[in-house]
Amino acid sequence: MGEVQAFHSDQTTTTTPVGEHADSLSTVLDLVRSGIARTRPEIGRHAGLGRTVVTQRVTQLTVSGLLEEGALGPSSGGRAPRELRFRARAGVILAAELGATSISVGVTDLAGVVLAEHTETADIAAGPETVLSRVEEVFDDLLPRVRAELGSPELPVWGVGVGLPGPVEFATGRPSAPPIMPGWDGYPVRDRFARRYDTPVWVDNEVNTMALGELRAGSARGQRDILYVKIGTGIGAGLISNGTLHRGSQGCAGDIGHAATSEEDDVVCRCGNTGCLEAYAGGAALARDGLVAAKEGRSRFLADVLATTGTVTAADVSRAAQSGDRTSVELLTRAGRLVGTLLATLVSFFNPALVIIGGGVSGAGDLLLAAVRETVYRRSLPLATRELRITRSALSDRAGLVGAAFMAIDELFAPERLARWVDDGSPAGRPALVDVPLRTAVL
Ligand SMILES: [Zn+2]
Repeated sequence: MGEVQAFHSDQTTTTTPVGEHADSLSTVLDLVRSGIARTRPEIGRHAGLGRTVVTQRVTQLTVSGLLEEGALGPSSGGRAPRELRFRARAGVILAAELGATSISVGVTDLAGVVLAEHTETADIAAGPETVLSRVEEVFDDLLPRVRAELGSPELPVWGVGVGLPGPVEFATGRPSAPPIMPGWDGYPVRDRFARRYDTPVWVDNEVNTMALGELRAGSARGQRDILYVKIGTGIGAGLISNGTLHRGSQGCAGDIGHAATSEEDDVVCRCGNTGCLEAYAGGAALARDGLVAAKEGRSRFLADVLATTGTVTAADVSRAAQSGDRTSVELLTRAGRLVGTLLATLVSFFNPALVIIGGGVSGAGDLLLAAVRETVYRRSLPLATRELRITRSALSDRAGLVGAAFMAIDELFAPERLARWVDDGSPAGRPALVDVPLRTAVL
């Protein structure tokens, strides 16, 4: 049942009856919602649980409104077993990914399928009041539309998941000294949404939600050890180890943008140090170097862009490279080589099966990805790269939004929370705001 464990494999397992109960409840639900098992006998086989336990757990989950009996399966002589289905439309999840320069806001079902979404430009530096008010407006616009479309005017919100472009203390849902988010430090993002929607809320760094999105619905499905690298304005990584997000003791695991490179340390990074990776290879660095190249007459393409638009962006550099502009090709190749050099170390250290490159800069062409690949394969140990795949994000812009939804879904159905919820006899279709410690706190 390898894939099932991927949902909650980080949960502390205990040998107490309470722990076993929580685990078997969660296992049964996971088997059905992942599509691995559709009948009681199949659940029993995959979970290694006896018939009585399976029946009890299925009954509990059905009474709680999480499972339902489907139509009878095809008969093969005797009485066909009843098909069980996860009630993915019993409620919805509100998900938001807040980037440095845009917000993506959506409503998903409990299987992470996006039912409605909206993306617009936004400046995270405008502060939490402005940005979060806008996110709430969009939620309040999308939610009635989804309810109307599903013909369910009272369809409840079961949870909220939010990704932010900076470090987040996962246990409290507050940003922690985020460098590009003035006014956000310590802001109670989780509490604000929890009050407004009267539902559990989880907040995390957007790179983590992107990694989770790829794991659950993107190119990392079925994998256990993944490195997700976002090359946007800045650079960050999300680490999935043994099927679970590794957030680290302070929640800032994967903050690789400020790792030292071997470049001459003549560029001061926004963090105050010199020689940081993102100060040479991030989107802001590409835009800066592209602008200099335009002004110095080293790129005809970028000089034209500068004359027309008054500035040069990372996207302009990518476009210039794709059209064969030599300076831009060099800039992107250098960025890819620098990212690849650090990744080679991480690959040797962590031995992932898959490295996913995402973020705005990565989407612009193959040059950067090719340079990353070439460097990683050249510099890593042969054993670490024998089965290694390095690929572009499959979900692209959507990874963060989908991942934010799955963060909430995974937490809602985590064993301890699920057991408390089911045992409390909360009315079907509405999870109680049970006071279960968050998983990082449990661990
Ligand atoms: Zn730095």
